[in-house]
Amino acid sequence: MILQLEKIHKKYNDIQVFNNLSLEIKESEIVCIIGPSGCGKSTILNLISGLIQPDQGELMNKSNKIAYVFQEDRLLPWRTVYKNIKLVDQHSSKEKIDELITDMGLKGFENKFPHQLSGGMRQRCSIARAFNYQSELLLMDEPFKSLDYDLRRNMVNHLVKLWKKTQNAIVFVTHEIDEALLLGNRIIVLSDRPTSILKVFELGYPQD
Ligand code: ADP
Ligand code: ADP
Repeated sequence: MILQLEKIHKKYNDIQVFNNLSLEIKESEIVCIIGPSGCGKSTILNLISGLIQPDQGELMNKSNKIAYVFQEDRLLPWRTVYKNIKLVDQHSSKEKIDELITDMGLKGFENKFPHQLSGGMRQRCSIARAFNYQSELLLMDEPFKSLDYDLRRNMVNHLVKLWKKTQNAIVFVTHEIDEALLLGNRIIVLSDRPTSILKVFELGYPQD
């Protein structure tokens, strides 16, 4: 077990998001979380990453190295694509960064700044950056939202390819059931607020 949330309660002002949420994530698992807008999917990732604290309940996180891809890119505007990716690991080799840049379809854009890229390209740069960090746990919040259908499919395949190399645990929030089915070896379906787990689907690990 790399991660365990036990009987989590979380409230924002008068909005009760979680009343008693428990879930566990094992090493190397790819867990996809789907559920209606506002049910607390981002809140789960924020709790796991320690950005916010639960009101009640226990959160056990064995991973020291977490990477987080947010819904919107959080690139440093004054750094190029290459340097944004390098940022998270100053020892990473040029070969590794070049490979990530190619995988994410950013070849030729190494020296561009974020404002010179499309939204989708910035998001792909964030994904490359997350993968340049050897995380034990990768959190992704609708990372492909701003991409069109073909590119999303492509990104899912890239993600599987990268995961096969790193075998890190991934918690992946999405609205797209096809993404969840292609990627997840477990899919957790959440209800409306106050949020509970409606259903869990256990699937195989992603194939080639
Ligand atoms: P999801 O990711 O499933 O769309 P979120 O986790 O973003 O849902 O939000 C769950 C609920 O909590 C929503 O109703 C949202 O408006 C509310 N919420 C999230 N963050 C805050 C915050 N910082 N302050 C107040 N309310 C918040
Ligand atoms: P995405 O689906 O990644 O948001 P777009 O549909 O906006 O990308 O753009 C498609 C392609 O056009 C990109 O992959 C890129 O090659 C090129 N492109 C888009 N915006 C820019 C830009 N601001 N500067 C340079 N090239 C761009």
